[in-house]
Formats: sequence, C-alpha cells, structure tokens
Amino acid sequence: MNDSSPATAQINPPQRLLMGPGPVNADPRVHRAMSAQLVGQYDPSMTGYMNEVMELYRGVFKTQNEATLLIDGTSRAGIEAALVSLVEPGQKVLIPVFGRFGYLLKEIAVRVGAEVAVREKDWGQVFTAEEIEQAIIEEKPTLLALVQGDTSTTMNQPLEGIGEICAEHGVLFYTDATASLGGNEFLADAWGIDAATAGLQKCLGGPSGSSPITLSEKAVETVRARRHVEEGIADGTAGQGTRIASNYFDLSMILDYWGPQRLNHHTEATTMLYGVRECARLLLQEGMDSAIKRHRLHGEAMLAGVQGLGLQVFGDVAHKMNNVVAVEIPAGVDGDAARNAMLTDYGIEIGTSFGPLHGKVWRIGTMGYNARKDAVLLTLAALEQVLRSAGAQITAGGGVGAAQEIYQNEVTAR
Ligand SMILES: *Cc1c(COP(=O)(O)O)cnc(C)c1O
Repeated sequence: MNDSSPATAQINPPQRLLMGPGPVNADPRVHRAMSAQLVGQYDPSMTGYMNEVMELYRGVFKTQNEATLLIDGTSRAGIEAALVSLVEPGQKVLIPVFGRFGYLLKEIAVRVGAEVAVREKDWGQVFTAEEIEQAIIEEKPTLLALVQGDTSTTMNQPLEGIGEICAEHGVLFYTDATASLGGNEFLADAWGIDAATAGLQKCLGGPSGSSPITLSEKAVETVRARRHVEEGIADGTAGQGTRIASNYFDLSMILDYWGPQRLNHHTEATTMLYGVRECARLLLQEGMDSAIKRHRLHGEAMLAGVQGLGLQVFGDVAHKMNNVVAVEIPAGVDGDAARNAMLTDYGIEIGTSFGPLHGKVWRIGTMGYNARKDAVLLTLAALEQVLRSAGAQITAGGGVGAAQEIYQNEVTAR
C-alpha cells in the first residue's frame, strides 16, 4: 500500500437518498451520538446508559417488561438469540410464512434443532387469527414465531388477538418486528407478545448493528430454566432445561449481564449503544403515535404518488406496512436498469425484490429519517424522469401531484 492506494484514503461515501426497504439514511443526530467518546464497560456512566436504554425501549415496544435490552449484531442476531434461547432441541415451532423473513425464521428454528411446522400464504397476503389458531390446534407447538412486517412482500401481519390465542393454548409467542417497529402500531403487552426483536435500520432511523429485544416474564422463566451449572452461576439457580447451544446468544447469560448482577458476558458495543439510545430518544420525544402517523402520511403519499404515475401496486394494500410499497415494474422497462439510473443520475436508491417477486416489483421505502415530504417528492420526480427515459407510458406530473394532494388533505384535516 502507498499513499495513493484507495485503502489509505479517508472514507467518503457518495451522497445517497436511501429509499429502499432498508437500510435507510440514519438521522444525523444518531451519527452525532455515535461519535461520543468511549467509557469502560462497568463505568457507572455506561451501566447508567444501559439502564436508560432498557427504559427507553420499554417505551418503544410499549411494554413493562423488565427484560428489555440489546443483542449486539444486526436484526437477525436478535432472532437467533430469541430462538436458540427459547426453543429446546426437539420442541415444536409453528411458523406462518407470508414472505422471505418467515423462511428465515424457519431456517433458524431448524438450525436450533426445533421440529418446525409451517403454514404458507401467497406473497402479498396475511393470515387471519382463525387460521393461526387452527394451525396451533393441529400442531400443538411450544412456540409460535411470526413476522410482523415482512419487507419482502410489504405486508403487515395483524398481531392483535394472537397473543390471547397463544396464552389459551400454552404457546410462547415470538415476533420479528424489525421492519415494522416505530412506523406501525406495536403493542407488546396489550397484544400478549412473549418475545419481540427488532433492528435499527428501518423505522428506528439508525444504522444496522444492534437488535433491541423484549421478553415477557414467561419468556424470562423459559430462558432461566436453561441456565447451566457450567456457566458458573454463583447463586445456585441453575435450571433443568437443556443448555443453550450458543454462548454469544445465550439470553440467560445476557440477562445476567444487563441485570443488577452485571455478570460479565461480552463487551457491550458502546458506540452502537449510543446510537440505539438516540434512536429511541428521538422517537419517544416525537411520541410513538406521532411517529406512526408520520410513517402513515408519507407512506400514503408515496402510494398515491406511484399510483398517480399510473403504476400498479403489488399485494393486499389494506394490509400494507406504512413504510414500504411494492411497485410493479411496467411492461417493457428493465427494472435493474431503471434502479441503476435512479442511483447514478439522482443518487436515490430504491429496492429490488426476492423470490417470486424478483424482476417484477421494486420496493420503495419511506421510513425512519427518510419518512419526509422532500424525500417522497424527490423520489417520485426522479422516478417519473427515469420511467419516461425508459419509454414507459406514465402520467406526466402525476406522481408528485398525487402525493402533494395527500399532503394538502393532511393540512386541511388538521
Ligand atoms: C430487514 C429485516 C430484517 C433484517 O435483518 P438484518 O440482520 O438486520 O439484516 C430482519 N427481519 C425482517 C422482518 C426484516 O424486514
């Protein structure tokens, strides 16, 4: 390496407006919080910040759960920690799958040695509570694992009532709320959720790299029953359950680390924790209900905008998440070339798709820091130009116009 080698140059990423299904641009205040100086792992200021993070995320998840903390790693670290710690090998997990992330839950549950039962929906649809109850009756699982918002299809699975069904049948209820939390209603306690995990890079407005998690008392008991003598538990409270097959994701040890015992586990990712704290602080300062309303408004404006351009929207729009829309690629348009033109000519990233939707739809997000009017209007204006250049039949000015109408109506309604 010499001085002209790119690897020795200061990092200077291009300016991008990230309007895909995540990651999105982080709020500048989150970046600023993450530039704060480090402190030691057991410095009273650090353990104080850890306690504050627990309190703040109780507000975000809408829960009284004492066990509300962070798993270090991206969102799937939270998923792995939940499944490896809550499910013992041989126990049955029921997974209603309505998109790609349902299959991720399935893969992880198989890896932790669970017996996995799956129900599947066509992409673009969600399950009814009755369908889920019927599957619980048929399969008698130990745990139900259900995604709330699946960005692969943009669907928002209703969770209300599912917790009661689970409680009635003695089933633990885990949900992956990564894509939805902060931009769509989420009520951990009111909905009877035993375990929920999330990530920062969607509606929470931060970078990926930390996974907030909350556990009900029942979930904590389940985890505690798997604390093992080998872990050097001093208080003699080791449980009878199978030892958790992961050190890093052993929630019983992580709980002892975040709890008053402060038993050493990993070194908490200090810089991430500063960012995570700022994400929640900003959301709670805005108010969770206001944040959800903001996501609804800008999501509606984007939806109206793409429809105003004359484009079709994929899936059951009544169950769409507020923060992402799947737009059908018009006939004759090369989807990847158009995305590329959005990026190189306008600096705007929109998303491609997976599985059965690959090459058929783009996914456009309006979430976190980018759930903003200027971001929506810029994206629609650029998309119109790109589609026009690609020879698509679109309504001139229809995108920005339809979105502006949504914003006007919002002003009048206030
Ligand atoms: C985006 C998303 C994830 C992302 O997981 P990472 O490990 O952060 O990449 C997980 N689950 C759902 C439902 C998502 O939408």
